[in-house]
Amino acid sequence: MDIDDQKSCCICRALKPTECFGTYALPARGRLFTVAERACTTCFMTDPARGMRGRCIEFVKSVIDMLPPDDELWASAPRISPTGPYAKRPHISDGELEGMMRAAGDCCEICATPFSDTVKHRIDHCHQTGMIRGLLCHSCNVGLGFFRDNPRALHSATIYLERSAP
Ligand SMILES: [Zn+2]
Ligand SMILES: [Zn+2]
Repeated sequence: MDIDDQKSCCICRALKPTECFGTYALPARGRLFTVAERACTTCFMTDPARGMRGRCIEFVKSVIDMLPPDDELWASAPRISPTGPYAKRPHISDGELEGMMRAAGDCCEICATPFSDTVKHRIDHCHQTGMIRGLLCHSCNVGLGFFRDNPRALHSATIYLERSAP
């Protein structure tokens, strides 16, 4: 329910001015859309997981899919640069993520640290092909990046560390 420039938060249900809601960037159909959050910033900060679920990304994407080319929202959305950070970002649905979580046993697939509010999952993907590889903790995800996703370098690192292991 939107009244003038107020809207209701999907979590606390309070009617608040639009400034109380953040926005997020959603890549779709080769363009970058700025979408308003459905949870107010206060609720989003209190419970980010619930705030994320409130985004209803599949629904928003289905709306974007139906936008005619002369639609103002469509026309004003910038094109995604093929070399920019959104170009090869993996897109997976909530259902796919749930399946991956189950397959990973809710743990990082490298160091086996259980995912929690403090250890968030990262969707790891190949930067050359965009293919999703699995779910990792932040440390392991950036670790692969520091090793330039190079299995041989990682293997050498293992041998190097084991050489002087206590
Ligand atoms: Zn709220
Ligand atoms: Zn890890």
